[in-house]
Amino acid sequence: SPYPIALSGRVCKGFGRGGKDLGCPTANFPEDNSDVEKMVGKVETGVYYGWARVIPTSDQVENGDAAHSPQNRLSEFDTRVHPMVMSLGWNPFYKNEKLTAEIHVMHEFGGDFYEYELRAMVLGYIRPELDYINQEALIEDIDTDKLVAQNCLAREAYRNFSEDKFFFEPS
Ligand code: ADP
Ligand code: MG
Repeated sequence: SPYPIALSGRVCKGFGRGGKDLGCPTANFPEDNSDVEKMVGKVETGVYYGWARVIPTSDQVENGDAAHSPQNRLSEFDTRVHPMVMSLGWNPFYKNEKLTAEIHVMHEFGGDFYEYELRAMVLGYIRPELDYINQEALIEDIDTDKLVAQNCLAREAYRNFSEDKFFFEPS
């Protein structure tokens, strides 16, 4: 089994494909993220589940988080380890030659967290990526994905990964 798969990197702007409009914002890694590149040939495209943590970077801490307006500053609760679902797919923008990982953290954040560090631990596969006829079908499937993720992560063996040192060691 390739799991657990650890991913980390700075959150960057995605393609604005309407994640937020669907009630499912997805945090993107930079296109050259080496952890994502390492998954090529090891795993299928599709939807995965696992744990994720958003962490202020050292420069944000030193600058008093100057990159972010006060109302956008994350709370102590926001920076805990949360369940996540991840979509892994070939990026049509790069002629399907680049693998893209987008992570929806299952938590209501106080604001956006672009430029923050995102650490994720991928623990299992849910389903392949499908072509959806309509948005309702897509949203229904995303809701099911979240339930599957919650149920899997509630098992002790999976829950233990949320306390892994990977999430807590300094950058
Ligand atoms: P983009 O195309 O820039 O990725 P999205 O609509 O997918 O835009 O929104 C993603 C952004 O939303 C993330 O980069 C992050 O800053 C913010 N965000 C807020 N809440 C969440 C969440 N629960 N999961 C993922 N991203 C979130
Ligand atoms: Mg996104």
